[in-house]
Amino acid sequence: MIEKALINDIEVEYEVIHRKVKNARLEIKTDKIRLIMPINHFNTTEIIRNHENWIYNKVIHIKQLQNEAEKRKLNLDLDEDEFKTMVKELILEFTNDLGVDFNRVFFKKMRSRWGSCSSKKNLNINKYLRFLPSSLIEYVVYHEVAHLVEMSHNKTFWNIIAFKYPDYKEIENELTVYWICLKKCLESLE
Ligand SMILES: [Zn+2]
Repeated sequence: MIEKALINDIEVEYEVIHRKVKNARLEIKTDKIRLIMPINHFNTTEIIRNHENWIYNKVIHIKQLQNEAEKRKLNLDLDEDEFKTMVKELILEFTNDLGVDFNRVFFKKMRSRWGSCSSKKNLNINKYLRFLPSSLIEYVVYHEVAHLVEMSHNKTFWNIIAFKYPDYKEIENELTVYWICLKKCLESLE
């Protein structure tokens, strides 16, 4: 269910999702704000009022990313085979650099992330990643390989990332910008 609230000068839309959780929480999913509510709790107003500043800042940030997304173009030149070869070579390079081994790599069409890493040491790479600049493909592969060292997004993990990509926060933002850009393209294709 989509609800709206007026915060300062902007109308904010957020999705309310009921789940089996103890406490309500706000989360941000790429370019959407979600309010996760315990089952049977329907008073969203108070939670929204208590977190106005947080929400406002997030919305401004999302708007900036959406504006940036308008300026991006997908790269349609890299075919799927070239892309897969490139990713496999990068995996070999980065697993070697970080001294870890991996099991298998799977290429899948994913709707919510660029890649993932399983506890069985399998790497999943989003097929749509091939439309991104090669520097971002490289970063995503490194990010997933780093999960072979540290599964969660904790300090240790971001230290491994920062070692190779000191500006990783900007790169993560750029990945969100491309995500918005890609989603728009996919919508227009369907
Ligand atoms: Zn990650």
